[in-house]
Amino acid sequence: MTKGAERCGWCGRKLAQTPGRGRPRLYCKPACRQRSYEARRRQLEGALRPGEIPIPQAAFRELQDNLYQLTAALEDVDQDLAARPSLRAYQTAFEHLYRAANRLRGVEIEPSR
Ligand SMILES: [Zn+2]
Repeated sequence: MTKGAERCGWCGRKLAQTPGRGRPRLYCKPACRQRSYEARRRQLEGALRPGEIPIPQAAFRELQDNLYQLTAALEDVDQDLAARPSLRAYQTAFEHLYRAANRLRGVEIEPSR
């Protein structure tokens, strides 16, 4: 028996598999199956390379910005904790990192058509 995917093959959301009920799910909803099919078709047409998917430009920029902020926060923390840091310095570092990481909480990027 084929084991279903843990995550949707298109949007990446977690999938709940129902054992013994038809084919294992690969997508969380019909729209994801359809978009995956369209992307494969565009890859075959040469509009996308294999493994590439289109994502909305605004979502890409927001993700890039948030990852940049997180990287910058890590660099700050590396510097701040470099030499015998105090407990207070660890606390400040944690708060700084948490704020930067929290910007990514719940971010879901839906590939575009
Ligand atoms: Zn999905």
